[in-house]
Amino acid sequence: MTDKSARVAVLGAGCWGLSTAYHLQKDGYTNITVFDRASELPSNQSAANDLNKIVRAQYSDDFYTDLGLEAIAAWKTEDWAPYFHQTGHLVMLSGYASEKAQGIFGGAANYISNHRTMKGNATLGLDTPEKMREFCWQLTGPLTNFKSYYNRAEGYAHSARAVGGIAEKLKERGVKFVLGPEAGLVEKLFFEGEGEARRCTGFTTHDGTTHNADLVVCALGAYGAQLVPQVGLFSVARCWSVAHIKLTQDECDVLRGIPVVNSMDLGFFFEPDPATRLLKLTPLGAGYSNYGSTQTSLPPLASGDTAQNTALAGYVPQADEVQMRRLLQETLPYLADRPFVEKKMCWFSDTADSEYCIDFVPNTSKSLVVLSGDSGHGFKMMPIFGSWVKTLLEDGQQKLPRWTWRNVDPAQGGADWGGDVSWRFGEAAETSAIVEERQKAEAK
Ligand SMILES: Cc1cc2nc3c(=O)[nH]c(=O)nc-3n(C[C@H](O)[C@H](O)[C@H](O)COP(=O)(O)OP(=O)(O)OC[C@H]3O[C@@H](n4cnc5c(N)ncnc54)[C@H](O)[C@@H]3O)c2cc1C
Repeated sequence: MTDKSARVAVLGAGCWGLSTAYHLQKDGYTNITVFDRASELPSNQSAANDLNKIVRAQYSDDFYTDLGLEAIAAWKTEDWAPYFHQTGHLVMLSGYASEKAQGIFGGAANYISNHRTMKGNATLGLDTPEKMREFCWQLTGPLTNFKSYYNRAEGYAHSARAVGGIAEKLKERGVKFVLGPEAGLVEKLFFEGEGEARRCTGFTTHDGTTHNADLVVCALGAYGAQLVPQVGLFSVARCWSVAHIKLTQDECDVLRGIPVVNSMDLGFFFEPDPATRLLKLTPLGAGYSNYGSTQTSLPPLASGDTAQNTALAGYVPQADEVQMRRLLQETLPYLADRPFVEKKMCWFSDTADSEYCIDFVPNTSKSLVVLSGDSGHGFKMMPIFGSWVKTLLEDGQQKLPRWTWRNVDPAQGGADWGGDVSWRFGEAAETSAIVEERQKAEAK
């Protein structure tokens, strides 16, 4: 699409939707409107509505590693720098790790030691607690049989602030926003024409308003299949636990500047947030889907299951809690028995091969773009992601096979690959098991 005055509607103001608006506005598009169901950004339904996310460059695949390096360079530029913290990244493996996890860690260490740019940033072979403490003296735990390496080029970004801050910048630059559960909640896309002429010409919002657009970009994260049901055949809404510990001012100061501490098999935590004094933890695992009795996994809010939505609020599964406490016992033992606060399940959109989908929906005459399948590694790309949507519009097709739309036969769809994803460990489960577990625990 080359008409820069075309009406572009971006549905979803999470990190990919905003990055798209950012790059299109920068490229001269003058009529961009962003819709989101939340009244304020970041939305509570955005996976990026969180204190922080890891910004790493290292993958096991040069394609994404190069993009990760490009993203880190972009995080250091004027619009993005306020949110980025290059604290370094201590990649670890605990003594509890499975054989699969040991293999992945070994492969990752080997990859970085041979990578043309990254090897210069990495210190490998940290195989004693003393060596690890050279990069994070605050780790007072036993670090029993831990292995580690340190990458000084990586770190984290404050994700909620990045989403809120970039939205404000976009408003100043003329991008329009329609927000809230009435005016901003998109309920249905509509199409005109048949066969080759069929196109998406707009959508309706919860307040009953009809919006016309020349190009509709669906950037709904875990909610994608709600508006474009075929997305649910290759992209599964899945959630992971997030928990926090509220620190005292002194505790917070002690941990200031620590690298991201990331035990591949247990989970990770970040430097505490100085404003809230919260230390955020995430356990690593295969996550939870919500198929129920359907072929599509969606967050309960999207599938209309308000009872489940309420039942999940403020809770994380016990197994995840045990894993996070084990991580703390080994690293920061004085925090291991502290209450977890602000617990939640965070929803993302997961593909079997962890590849993104950035493409036109077939049979829509290039009027409808879907951005989906972040697979839990999409935030770090926020400063550059929208440039790939710009390229898609310029090229009129997705030239990278890995990011194309997947045609899945509905008879085959809905399959759950769960724990088969190479870099995750454990077995995937359904959120109904979490609700059951909570009900049992509360009935005791
Ligand atoms: C626990 C957890 C940890 C993670 N850690 C990392 C990490 O360390 N590093 C990293 O790079 N990535 C990480 N991620 C992944 C990252 O958060 C996602 O890749 C990223 O947020 C995806 O962006 P998105 O724009 O596709 O979706 P989202 O950010 O989820 O945004 C979707 C938006 O769509 C809106 N919406 C939904 N339905 C509608 C509707 N019908 N109408 C209007 N608006 C709607 C929502 O309100 C929301 O604002 C993590 C994810 C989770 C869950």
